[in-house]
Amino acid sequence: MKVNVRPVPCTGLVIKGIMKSTRSILVRRSLLLILTGISLSVYAPAQSRRPVNPALISRAEQITGDRFPIITTTPRGVIVLAQTMPRLQLLNAIDSGFADLFAVAQRHGYRNRVKFDDYTVFIGKPDRLKDRAGQYSPDIAVPAQQYAGSDYDQGGFIYAAGMVLAFNPCAFVIAEHDRDLGRVSNVVRFEGEHLVLYYNDRALYERTADHSRGGGHPILQ
Ligand SMILES: [Zn+2]
Repeated sequence: MKVNVRPVPCTGLVIKGIMKSTRSILVRRSLLLILTGISLSVYAPAQSRRPVNPALISRAEQITGDRFPIITTTPRGVIVLAQTMPRLQLLNAIDSGFADLFAVAQRHGYRNRVKFDDYTVFIGKPDRLKDRAGQYSPDIAVPAQQYAGSDYDQGGFIYAAGMVLAFNPCAFVIAEHDRDLGRVSNVVRFEGEHLVLYYNDRALYERTADHSRGGGHPILQ
């Protein structure tokens, strides 16, 4: 299985109070909405009754420009927020990524935040579907911040496979995928690495959260 995550930075740093408002992102988003408007979903899991902090939802909406009316859980207990009800296969891919993450965390003796229900995942609309090489790579546009002027900089924003939104509760956003679900598992495992490190090895977290200074994933082997 070909997985192409590495060339796309994620950001383990929490970006504060930023709205994506550049015209190019909005135009791109509207085009992609058309491309991704066909839902393949036939499975309809129930809405979750577990409460999600409204401030966290607001933050995710502000950063992505998306809305997250659907709240559900994966079979193993990760809270998932999305625009439309995710397919079971996508939820399973999220669980698979966390299972890999927790296994590697256990090998390192980490005990904090290594349960499925410690995590909340937002599924945002992708701002692109393919990378520069033409490979399927649903990514979200986020403010360039520390990546400004780097090779990743698209003019004030970068494309990211995922982004950490909050530490408590542990939350991050990834882009909706309709195929290559192995990539979803990898992005989950990689975003989750930042959060697991934050709670179990703060020094290593600090050294690895910002990929603009080099480094990528996996951090933990
Ligand atoms: Zn990362």
